[in-house]
Amino acid sequence: GQQTQQTALEQAAVLLKSVYGYDSFRKGQSDIIGGLLEGRDTLAILPTGGGKSVCYQIPAMLLEGTTVVVSPLISLMKDQVDALNRLGVPAAYLNSSLGAAEYRDVMRSAARGDYKLLYIAPERLDAPAFSGLLSQMRVPLIAIDEAHCVSQWGHDFRPSYRQLAGWIGRLQDRPLVAAFTATATPDVAEDISAMLSLRNPNVFVTGFARSNLSLSVLSGGDKRGYLRQYLAERREQSGIIYAATRKEVEQLHAELGKWGLEAGKYHGGLSDEERTENQEKFRFDELRVMVATNAFGMGIDKPNVRYVVHYQMPGDIESYYQEAGRAGRDGEESECVLLFEPQDTQIQRFLIDQGTGDESRKSIQLSKLHAMMNYTRTERCLQQFIVEYFGEADVAPCGKCSSCLDTSEPIDITADAQMALSCVGRMKGRFGVVMAAKVLKGSGEKRIREFGLDRLTTYGLMRSRSEKEIADLLYWLVAEGLLRMSDGQYPTVALTAKALPVLEGKETLYRRKTVLSQPSRKALGG
Ligand code: ADP
Ligand code: ZN
Repeated sequence: GQQTQQTALEQAAVLLKSVYGYDSFRKGQSDIIGGLLEGRDTLAILPTGGGKSVCYQIPAMLLEGTTVVVSPLISLMKDQVDALNRLGVPAAYLNSSLGAAEYRDVMRSAARGDYKLLYIAPERLDAPAFSGLLSQMRVPLIAIDEAHCVSQWGHDFRPSYRQLAGWIGRLQDRPLVAAFTATATPDVAEDISAMLSLRNPNVFVTGFARSNLSLSVLSGGDKRGYLRQYLAERREQSGIIYAATRKEVEQLHAELGKWGLEAGKYHGGLSDEERTENQEKFRFDELRVMVATNAFGMGIDKPNVRYVVHYQMPGDIESYYQEAGRAGRDGEESECVLLFEPQDTQIQRFLIDQGTGDESRKSIQLSKLHAMMNYTRTERCLQQFIVEYFGEADVAPCGKCSSCLDTSEPIDITADAQMALSCVGRMKGRFGVVMAAKVLKGSGEKRIREFGLDRLTTYGLMRSRSEKEIADLLYWLVAEGLLRMSDGQYPTVALTAKALPVLEGKETLYRRKTVLSQPSRKALGG
C-alpha cells in the first residue's frame, strides 16, 4: 500500500546497510544518490576516501540494466569488481589485463545483461566490438571516475577521455551521466561539465574539510631553528617533512642527523632499493621522520602521521592539500605546517618556466601558483580558504588554524592601502606588483622613467618603506581580493570592485599581521 512504499532514498539506505553494512550515508552521499535516482546528471567533487564508490554502486543496484563505470585505474578495477562480487553484486570489467577468452566471456555475459556494473578503461570505448555490445545492452547510468582527466585545465588531462562525450552522445537512449573527481576547482568543474555535455547537472562539492587537522602558515624567519625546536618537541611522533628539491632533502636530512635525529629520506634520485627500504622503515615506525620531495606519497597510507611540515611552498593548493592531508589519516589531531618565505615563489616560477608545458599549460600553472601564494598570506581561516578553493561553500571557521588562533590586534591600514591602490589604478593594469612597488618607492630605475611612471602623482608616495614591504602589502591586497592578478608569465595587477569603497574612504581596512616594517605576527620564533 501507499504507506509502506519506500522512497528511492530509503531503498538506497537499506542497501547501504544490507550490502555494505554501513549505518548511514556520509555528507553528500545521500544528496548525490538522491539526485541520480531522480534522474539528474551529476558532477560530484569528493576528496579521495570520501566514499564515492557507493554513490554510483547503489544507484546501479536500483536501476534497471547495467551501469557502465569508466575508470583509468586498471589496477583498482579488479579490486572493486572482486569486492562487489563478494558482496553479491554481479559485476565485471573489460580492460587490457584480460586474456582473449576471458574478454569474450565478459562481452557475452554483458550482452545478456548479467551484470549490474561493468567497469571499462576509457581506451576500450573506441573498439568497434564494444559499440556493438553497447547497442545490445540496457545502460541506465554511466559513471565516470577521475573525470578531471577530460579537462585540459585539470592537472591530469588524458586524450582518451576526450572521446567520452561523443561516445555518450551516440548511445541510443542517452543514459544518466555521473562524473566524479577528487580535485576540481570551480573552473575545472565547469569544463568537465561542458566537455561531457552534462545536462543541467547537479553539482556536489563536499567533504574537503578535515576537522582533525590544524593548519598553519609561518613566514619570515629562521626556518632551520624553528624546525629543530619543532622536532625536538615531537620526538615520539611520526611526521613527514616535504622539501621542494632533491638537494634540499639531502641537506635537511644531513642537518637532522647533526641534531641527533635519525630520519629517512625519499626522492627521485635514490635507488629503488633505498627508497623502498626507507619507506618501509617509516611505515613500521622504525624511523619516525621522513624527509622527502613530492615523490613520496603515492601509495603511502600511514595512519598515524602526526604532522606534515612543508619546508618550502608547493606549486599549487591541490598538491599542498594532498601532501598535508597525509597527516591524521587515523582521525587523531594532527598538524600541517607550511614554512613560507618569498623566495619559494621564485623556485616555483622557475619550475613552471623550465617545465614541459605549452604556454596555455604554463599560464594555468601560474594561476594555481597565485592561489597558493594567497594561501600563505590570507588572514582568513586556512581550512575555509582551502575548501572554498575546491568550491565547497558554507564551511564554518575551523577554530584551530594559525589564522583562527591569531589574537594580535587588528591595525587600521586604510591610508597605506589607499596609496597602494591608487597607484595601481593609475598604472592602468599594465604592470605587475614589482613595478607598482618601485613606483610607490620612487625608484630611480631607468625602466620607470622610460614608461613615464615617474610622472604619476603616486610616484614616491611610500618612499619611507622598503620595496619589499610595499610588495608585501600589494600581495596582501591581492589575497584580500582588492587587487586582481592576471595569469601569464608576467602577471599584471589591476583594481577590483572591492577596491573602490576603500579608495573613496567609505570603508576601513584592518590587517592583523603587522603590516610594514615590523616582522610578521606569524614570524618564526617570535
Ligand atoms: P573514494 O573512492 O572516494 O576514495 P571509497 O568509495 O573507496 O572512497 O570509500 C572510502 C572508504 O569509506 C571505504 O573504506 C568505504 O568502505 C568507506 N565508506 C564509504 N561510505 C561510507 C559510509 N556511508 N559509512 C561508512 N563508511 C563508508
Ligand atoms: Zn581556521
